[in-house]
Amino acid sequence: MTRLIDLPTLAQLVHHITPARFMTELAEHLHSDYLRWQDFDKTARVASHSAGGVIELMPVADNAYYSFKYVNGHPGNPISGLPTVMAFGVLSEVATGYPLLVSELTLTTALRTAATSAMAARALARPDARCMALIGNGAQSEFQAIAFHALLGVNELRVFDIDPAATAKLQRNLAAVPGLRVVPTSSAAEAARGADIVTTITADKANATIVTPDMIEPGMHLNAVGGDCPGKTELHPDVLRAAKIFVEYEPQTRIEGDIQQLPAHHPVTELWRVLAGQAAGRQSASDVTVFDSVGFALEDYAALRYIHQRATAENLGIEVELVPTDGDPKDLFGRTRGDRQRVALRRVA
Ligand code: NAD
Repeated sequence: MTRLIDLPTLAQLVHHITPARFMTELAEHLHSDYLRWQDFDKTARVASHSAGGVIELMPVADNAYYSFKYVNGHPGNPISGLPTVMAFGVLSEVATGYPLLVSELTLTTALRTAATSAMAARALARPDARCMALIGNGAQSEFQAIAFHALLGVNELRVFDIDPAATAKLQRNLAAVPGLRVVPTSSAAEAARGADIVTTITADKANATIVTPDMIEPGMHLNAVGGDCPGKTELHPDVLRAAKIFVEYEPQTRIEGDIQQLPAHHPVTELWRVLAGQAAGRQSASDVTVFDSVGFALEDYAALRYIHQRATAENLGIEVELVPTDGDPKDLFGRTRGDRQRVALRRVA
């Protein structure tokens, strides 16, 4: 049977163990999967662009599991009451192709993106970084705040969004997080002033310039998350030129990341090499580092594996007969009689 985890079930799990612990445990899965980089059959995601956004398929596999995510990015969606980013995904057994898990991945994308950002910053930011600018206070933003608080000890957030209601929502949602001071600011430049880490997580289908060279201070780490599609960037190209740049999967980031603004030969380092000790990260306290995040399928694989493990151990979700599971496997036509009872449709949590 295939386990189905819908949004309410995943939300219950996250509430039960807390977002901070979920992302801390997920970061461990991410880290161990990034260290197994060579085990994976990797490919840049397949994107279908339209006027208002993009719909993408993100597959990856090792010799045990295959996973894919369906995800969109439509910056205009909130006006009509829909999130900018919505997603679901599948984890299958490679040996048979059997789909083990179908899961919501909208909430999970926010959790895995923040956990990945924090994992990258742990390797690239100055170890004494405690103050972060958070520019773009939409759906993803609280997750970034909590991940950086839990994994790096960030205790001050300088926040900015062109939509004051988004910043007010962020302040409300983070009010109960002990030891995290949230300071609203009136521009991206004011948010970045004095920050050790600058996270950009805005949504606009444009070559935006959220961060300009005058905003950069020696030693900053930039966690650039919102530039993740052709024609959709956040950093001024001179910010990139003056920094050491780290990416997830280079063939994909060349197309989708902020580095699409640079020549194809501009040097970048894949994050897994830093995590594995094969390449240097930051080399001095004054280096400016950029994590040019676009989101890579391996991160969804790690998240699906983690959810599958937890859901199986705690018996969460619903089991459904998504593909034939009993009877004569050659008698598929027999199923067209429609006389078989549902094998199980069982709410286990
Ligand atoms: P959202 O629409 O909920 O929030 C985006 C926010 O950015 C909005 O509040 C908007 O007002 C603000 N904004 C737009 N332009 C701005 C500007 N110039 N200055 C300051 N704020 C500005 O979207 P979301 O779900 O939070 O996603 C944010 C971005 O992150 C999107 O671009 C999305 O594609 C990207 N994303 C990347 C990854 C990844 O792995 N790299 C994963 C998920 C989402």
